[in-house]
Amino acid sequence: MDFKKDSRSHDSEQEKSQIEDTSILELKNLDNKKEIESQPLEVSSGNDNDSGFLDFGFNQSILNSLRNKGYKNPTPIQKAAIPELMIGRDLLGQAQTGTGKTAAFALPLIEKLADNKELNAKVLVMTPTRELATQVAESFKSYSSESSNFKTVAIYGGTDYRNQISALKRKVDVVVGTPGRIMDHIRQGTFKIKDINCLVLDEADEMLNMGFLEDIEWIIDQLPENKQMVLFSATMPSEIRNIAKKYLNDPAEILIKSVKKETQLISQKFIYVQRYHKLDALKRILELNNEGVIIFVRTKLLTTSIAEALENSGHTVAVLNGDIPQNQRENTVDRLKKGFINILVATDVAARGLDVERIKLVVNYDFPFDKETYTHRIGRTGRAGRSGEAILFVNQREKHFLRNLENSTRTKIEEINIPSNKIINEKRMEKLIENLNVSSLAKDENEEKKALIIDVLDNLKEKYSMDDSNIAMAAINLVIGNKSFFVNEDDSWIHKQNNTDRNRSNRNINNRMRNSNRRNNYQNDSFETYKFNFGKFDGVRVANIISSICNSTTINGRSIGKIQIFNDYSLVDLPRDLHRETKNKLKKIKVRN
Ligand code: AMP
Repeated sequence: MDFKKDSRSHDSEQEKSQIEDTSILELKNLDNKKEIESQPLEVSSGNDNDSGFLDFGFNQSILNSLRNKGYKNPTPIQKAAIPELMIGRDLLGQAQTGTGKTAAFALPLIEKLADNKELNAKVLVMTPTRELATQVAESFKSYSSESSNFKTVAIYGGTDYRNQISALKRKVDVVVGTPGRIMDHIRQGTFKIKDINCLVLDEADEMLNMGFLEDIEWIIDQLPENKQMVLFSATMPSEIRNIAKKYLNDPAEILIKSVKKETQLISQKFIYVQRYHKLDALKRILELNNEGVIIFVRTKLLTTSIAEALENSGHTVAVLNGDIPQNQRENTVDRLKKGFINILVATDVAARGLDVERIKLVVNYDFPFDKETYTHRIGRTGRAGRSGEAILFVNQREKHFLRNLENSTRTKIEEINIPSNKIINEKRMEKLIENLNVSSLAKDENEEKKALIIDVLDNLKEKYSMDDSNIAMAAINLVIGNKSFFVNEDDSWIHKQNNTDRNRSNRNINNRMRNSNRRNNYQNDSFETYKFNFGKFDGVRVANIISSICNSTTINGRSIGKIQIFNDYSLVDLPRDLHRETKNKLKKIKVRN
């Protein structure tokens, strides 16, 4: 049960032999650092054996839960990290979400806690957001679902303390939480940390972006000194390296080379569309693909108005925004996973870390604040090795942002047109024929239904003397219903828009070339300074301000600019084009109550 390092030495010979064992990996041993190509994830239907995971020495319960999940082989990060963590070594990993990094740390930690009978938590996982905390906790729960009496508790802000406190009073193996709430529970004595012997910092760079550095350091200082430390980060800026240097002891270093998942598996497109045509354009896009879609918008207000409009057009839709209570959000994500709803309209903060495999399309209805937000949004599709599509709406004013985005993500985003009546009608026809074909196959499956259909056919023939083709026509007519089947509203605006925009875009190319010198600076140009009347005298710190703004509005931590705290007021740079509703929320935000 003790996570302290075992006596195995980490000489290069030993590392090399491990590397050679991993047949499908191309590992380079760079002074203790392993560089690995990311690979698509494989999921089996459940019939294969779990040989890919046998070598790690996991107990049968873990192997059973992996089989239930359909995991066939460990991902590259799992191959590299699990053996290191199993021997108790510290680990510094650079990997994005989608690489299987959660299982890379969760599985060995669950294995080590297999016989844990003690009451207090042994493992603490810190995440930047409550969404990620819930997701990581869910992963621990599912990987330990076959292990007896294994308990994972998630503690994060925005929800009632009482349930968390009573969960922490019972036997706990792993606590997953966000820094602020973890601090609160430690201070109140409701989270007993004296037995913690492993700390995982997940998405450490994101925690730093959100201003949690001081909080993280405070928490680390409270924990027992002798513990295993695991740090995962998508990027490795010097601040993260410094934390690693300060707290990690001879860590194994693993870098999942950024063969970008999104460029491999997500096809990125953009559409020129003026603001007043956006909703029409969206509806037209959903005609071609409406199963497993996330639409990203900037404001909470817009999530509801768009969802309503889509619902009126016959789609199954839900919204995900910061106003929706946590338990309802979880319920929404669950319904999306199960296919009870097909479309989610979300704000950035609410959809952080969302992991739903069936998402096929991400629509950036509003232009993202920055490159990171864009990358995060489109990463909601292409999950677990599947392919996905991302469409970005771009208006006249946002064209130079598009160019900057292409430059900073080093990706060519391909232009596509808004689907015209012709394309939509072809698609509707194709769907109708496909549905009829599928229905004809389905009737073979159920004898009772088949008998019913034959009975109806006989009746129609005898009673109304209908022949086969009459009956077929009547049935198709019934399927089509009374509404007009083809779209025939005026779509000339689409053609005009595409043409004028392309002409303008050619004219603007020179301007854009000039502008490209300012590339990546667009964010700075679009800041506005807000004054808040709390400051040092109120005990306010940068992290408090960031987390209050992020939790009470749709503003993303990364899009918050400079923060200056004076004695009795603070100045915060925020994106210039905030919605009126967001501004109203800002007026009411509370920091440290
Ligand atoms: P993560 O990078 O931890 O966010 O994981 C991304 C996705 O990959 C999640 O949906 C996991 O359930 C899935 N996953 C993790 N490990 C494997 C594996 N070995 N095989 C298949 N899918 C996996």
